[in-house]
Amino acid sequence: MNDLKSALNILKKEFPDFEHRPQQVEMAEAVFSCLQNNERLLVEAGTGVGKSFAYLIPAILSDKKTIISTATIALQDQLINKDLTFLRKILPQQFSFAMLKGKNNYLCLKREREFSELSESFMRFREWASETETGDKDELSFIPDFWTKVCGDSNDCNTAQCPFYSDCFYYRHFRSLYKKDIIVVNHYLLMYDLLSGFNILPFHEQLIIDEAHQTENVISHVFGSVLSYQHVMWLLYRLRGLKIAVDHLFAPVDSFFKTPLSLPKTISPIRDEIIERLKDLKAQLALDKVIHRLDGQKDSADSDELRDRTVTTITYVMSLEAIIDDFIMQDDRNKVYYMTDNKKTLELKSNLVESQKSFQDLICAYESVIMTSATLTAAGDFNFIKARLGITGSLPDPGTGFNEMIIGSPFNYRKQALLYLDRELPVPDRANNEIFQQKSVKVIESLINASNGRSLVLFSSYSHLRYVSENITTDYPFKSQGEMPPARLIKWFKMTGNPVLLATATFWQGIDIKGDDLSLVVLVKIPFGTPGEPVYDERCRRLGDRWFNDLALPSAILQLRQGFGRLIRSADDRGVVAILDKRLVTSSYGRTIVSSLPEMDIVHRVEEVKRFFDSMPQKENVSCHVGAGLKPALTKKIKSI
Ligand code: SF4
Repeated sequence: MNDLKSALNILKKEFPDFEHRPQQVEMAEAVFSCLQNNERLLVEAGTGVGKSFAYLIPAILSDKKTIISTATIALQDQLINKDLTFLRKILPQQFSFAMLKGKNNYLCLKREREFSELSESFMRFREWASETETGDKDELSFIPDFWTKVCGDSNDCNTAQCPFYSDCFYYRHFRSLYKKDIIVVNHYLLMYDLLSGFNILPFHEQLIIDEAHQTENVISHVFGSVLSYQHVMWLLYRLRGLKIAVDHLFAPVDSFFKTPLSLPKTISPIRDEIIERLKDLKAQLALDKVIHRLDGQKDSADSDELRDRTVTTITYVMSLEAIIDDFIMQDDRNKVYYMTDNKKTLELKSNLVESQKSFQDLICAYESVIMTSATLTAAGDFNFIKARLGITGSLPDPGTGFNEMIIGSPFNYRKQALLYLDRELPVPDRANNEIFQQKSVKVIESLINASNGRSLVLFSSYSHLRYVSENITTDYPFKSQGEMPPARLIKWFKMTGNPVLLATATFWQGIDIKGDDLSLVVLVKIPFGTPGEPVYDERCRRLGDRWFNDLALPSAILQLRQGFGRLIRSADDRGVVAILDKRLVTSSYGRTIVSSLPEMDIVHRVEEVKRFFDSMPQKENVSCHVGAGLKPALTKKIKSI
């Protein structure tokens, strides 16, 4: 513990604008102790605890090889380029670290040679490809449409047998990782490592999972499969390049994936008619014969490159055949199978329903495991996440036990925030959906006016978002999710004066806007899972009459707490969270949900919201109403003067 104390003292001295937070020390001590004793820990750390330093410093002091997994590449970037880089400068301990992204983030030298097209973006791509030293897609100022055809793909990669292995961007970077003390990955790569039998990541002793509330969903996706038009078409072009006669197959493949009548309007179970057509397609593809032909060609190949291409294509064909068979049989009881529409092509998908076994396999591969997030508990305990991941007891249970710790946020929500709960709108259930949508527009408008824009409005469905975006009347600049990629929307929000952003799922978590730029978060409905969503439906079915208390309610609480967490991001932030779902006031479970939020004053009238904002110290930009002729950019400029 002495080492930890002195490291935290150094942090206190060296970190610009350091704020002493007992919660951060408490978390760092708990993580340190778990790593020292080869234990496991579930730790919920409220917004503002400073959890990344609270786990990074103990990991560095442990002197053991550590994998840190986060939810997104953006968070990986922050750990590598800010937090770990800073700690390496200030701490006396010597340690090394690196980030590993999935193979599909790197240019593949083999696949690049196979692809060309006449387009301006291809010319720009070629220029970059001839100069890059890393092959990392992040260096590109644009992501070309054809990236998936030139990036690494595990199904088409023969690793050390590949003739380009020694120069391969991905493997060159990968080989340097064996010496690193800390490797930062994202959840998908962590789970692909598990799926591969731990053949992707170098051996490490400790695992820290940040944003751990996403663990189950990532396992569910990674252990599922996809049959898509792009996959099959890519294979046909590859086979044509290998002189296998496939021209007669393009039309049936087009017909299977693109027939408009086959395209589902929403995600839905795979219809019998689709299965019959898939059987026909399989017969026409005659993949067994293709494998036989390729096997014959393999030995007579006149170059290493051709031999490698043939060998990896055989693997690709075998994998495709297994996926098609799986969708025809649909006999894996641990999976749910469904179909969806992806840009006007049919896509068949499967996901794992229960992730407990896979999660156990994951944690058993590490001496210590830390799982953390700002939202791991529902109604004050870890029971939900423990049940979903098969964590059956607390330590000292040697099998799956975890220590548990809840660390509250250092923010003073009573002073900094106000909770508006609407009591007037109809209950947003199926029967009242339309009238709720119509009436919600006026309430959203008046809340936005009270806060002078600066609002994030989070919906649970695209249809409601669309309805509001088409019918809202406001002088404030507003955009809706889908108008541009999420990262650009966030940038737009930060650069625009008094903005309003209407968004759904992606923005319930991960968006981090400090200060007055974001002062109102509207959560339109309690984010219950969507009936008709196959994995959710199947999980509910398996839970029988416990489906509401054991799944629907706790997962809605976690999601709602994530959305709520967008508002207060620093000790100086102030603002309002408005929830327009009157079930929070009228139902017994509503009270459970409200009790899961930080304690703060609750109001039910928009005038009280206005009064709250009026009582806030006025800053030039926030008091400035974007009226006729005053452009948003000008409003932002006023702030910066
Ligand atoms: S080893 Fe070869 S096939 Fe695999 S990513 Fe590297 S260049 Fe591509």
